[in-house]
Amino acid sequence: MASKTRQQNVTAAQWAGTGDGSGQSDITESAAAIYGENVFNIAAQKARLQKTVFTKLQKTLADGAPLDPALADAIADAMRSWAMEHGATHFTHWFQPLTNMTAEKHDSFFEPVGDGTALAAFSGKELIQGEPDASSFPTGGIRATFEARGYTAWDPTSPAFILENPNGSVLCIPTAFVSWTGEALDHKTPLLRSMDSLSSVALRALKLFGDKVAARVFTTVGPEQEYFLIDEQYFYERPDLYTTGRTLFGAKPPKGHELDEHYFGTIPERVLACMLETERELQRLGVPVKTRHNEVAPSQYELAPIFENSNVGSDHQQLTMQVLENVARRYGLVCLMHEKPFAGVNGSGKHNNWSMGTDSGQNLLEPGDTPAENIQFLFFCVAVIAAVDRHQELLRASVANVGQDHRLGANEAPPAIISIFLGRELERAFNAVASGKATDSAAGNFLGLGTPVLPPLPLHGGDRNRTSPFAFTGNKFEFRALGSSMSLGFVNTALNTIVAESIDMMVDEVEAAKKKGKKRPDAILDTIKKTWKAHKRIVFDGDGYADAWQKEAAARGLANLRTTPDALPWIVAKSTVQVFEQYNVLNERELEARFEVAVEQYSTKLNIEAETAASMARTMILPAAVRYLAECKEAGMTSLASELKSSADEFVKRLRVLEKANASHPAAEGLKEAEYMRDKVIPAMDKTRETADKLEGLVADDLWPLPKYSEMLFIK
Ligand code: ADP
Ligand code: MG
Repeated sequence: MASKTRQQNVTAAQWAGTGDGSGQSDITESAAAIYGENVFNIAAQKARLQKTVFTKLQKTLADGAPLDPALADAIADAMRSWAMEHGATHFTHWFQPLTNMTAEKHDSFFEPVGDGTALAAFSGKELIQGEPDASSFPTGGIRATFEARGYTAWDPTSPAFILENPNGSVLCIPTAFVSWTGEALDHKTPLLRSMDSLSSVALRALKLFGDKVAARVFTTVGPEQEYFLIDEQYFYERPDLYTTGRTLFGAKPPKGHELDEHYFGTIPERVLACMLETERELQRLGVPVKTRHNEVAPSQYELAPIFENSNVGSDHQQLTMQVLENVARRYGLVCLMHEKPFAGVNGSGKHNNWSMGTDSGQNLLEPGDTPAENIQFLFFCVAVIAAVDRHQELLRASVANVGQDHRLGANEAPPAIISIFLGRELERAFNAVASGKATDSAAGNFLGLGTPVLPPLPLHGGDRNRTSPFAFTGNKFEFRALGSSMSLGFVNTALNTIVAESIDMMVDEVEAAKKKGKKRPDAILDTIKKTWKAHKRIVFDGDGYADAWQKEAAARGLANLRTTPDALPWIVAKSTVQVFEQYNVLNERELEARFEVAVEQYSTKLNIEAETAASMARTMILPAAVRYLAECKEAGMTSLASELKSSADEFVKRLRVLEKANASHPAAEGLKEAEYMRDKVIPAMDKTRETADKLEGLVADDLWPLPKYSEMLFIK
């Protein structure tokens, strides 16, 4: 009685897409232009709003001022009629609770009017504020469940869009989600606050450099998203995949990525069809998707958009993950966004390209053409360096989650130590400023700037270092330590906040020196010099995976927070609370809430993994081993039987240890429980897995109940 035969692989390989990604209309023709067609964007607003309303709305957005409630009714009505023409019957306030996912509660446009019929209506009030019964969103104790009220508030700076569904479409209105006391319960609220703070501080700095045109500074984000696509048949045959998103068992395949044939390789047709449709959907949603390629691991891919302001970029990133997952199913595929779906195979991350730019179009992290511009660049650049050094632990905490513990610090993703890669030229430039002397090697090329002279700055690109968690890449910093499943919200909130503080401190210093009679250019250079000297320990251009770096980093006093429970307390550390409160981003209570939610998610997710592992071990893997053992005995294969039996015995023993660990959580919740999960439960799971993977190599293939790594990763 074979429970599993390899014949199913043929079915998996013969995909019959119900999607329509290939053979679509040519989007290079203007008649087929689809970009933004499902977005209530500026063009749609212009076409549908009265001119005065449109102008006032645009002005409100440009100034970042609150919206005149008198406009809301007109805007809501225009939005509704636009949405209904696009097939929407419902609307929802679309928000981002602390789960890293998005939430939506749909309301119909139609309301009965008393004569047995219904009329479509959507008021300004409904547009501006919602009151979902939000008692079951994680709030880290901010709002006790009996006080279930949470408000959603329209974010007019992120355009509304339509999510299509086979049976009807929904108008989605991006909103912030706050408690009745005004505390943030989501990722958007603090991100917006941090963007505001950074803007005012950066404008203050720009004044030092004589900038008279910039009225606002935006932070920008361009995320690169890694993901796996596997056949859905395998996914649904594995309880670990569909309950936890990763394989809890599975021996390493004979073929891994040793051949290096996958990275940038030809994209299989089914996958390409799926990607094309994903991208088309995203384009219709106004997400500027740009790049696609194969990633390092088999069946791993990457997608990257063109950067946008942090708020819209973060919303779009959530949409991207959602669309990737939805469209994959139309091709008989499942998109895995877990940080480590397959042990022993490269995991998936997200690269957060980050910069600051003015509304007048200047990228503050772009080296300029003139020495003066370059000084301004060095000023902002060293502010980022100092911020990352000062708050390295917070940045580490901002990317901590249960999936990340398989990557950070292991030999693939960036190490758990936060450091910055600048590239040789830029590092040399800072050292030249600091010493006041030109370095010999580049003497001929120096741009004169009175004292000191500056070596040429890297013009686009510069050299690269793939192992660095935080790398300068020509005109932006790339924070590479994010996990593939993460929301961009908290990471960018943290970055904006700590950089705001850093810029502010530097401007204070320059102002103080000026008061003491220093000339402005000298005061600026002095500050750059001092800041560089104080924080250059965070700069490292060597191999981040090498053991030597662990030692070197320790000697430099850099933090090495290996696991999530090590890192999370930094969310509520004094230095974090201080900077978040000073820049009005999150208060202590709001930070505590985030800490509690993160800790709880860690323990809960691990508990689900551990219980799933125990149940699969007992009810799937062990029976397979026992059956095969009986067969061996029956066939008189004594030595084979005893080999198998000793592994099976070991398996039972380890499985019991795991079951016991699952049953004996400490009474205390919070960090104590998280540490228990890390120190007792994970090792028990690992041990159980180790023996299971050994058994996989011993038990007859037709008895093995789980699809194997080679099948999941190589049948496309
Ligand atoms: P790389 O391989 O160098 O990382 P990619 O093309 O894969 O290059 O990704 C670069 C990413 O950086 C893109 O998502 C792009 O939009 C983003 N990016 C470029 N300029 C900026 C900027 N000023 N601010 C934020 N992100 C940016
Ligand atoms: Mg990159």
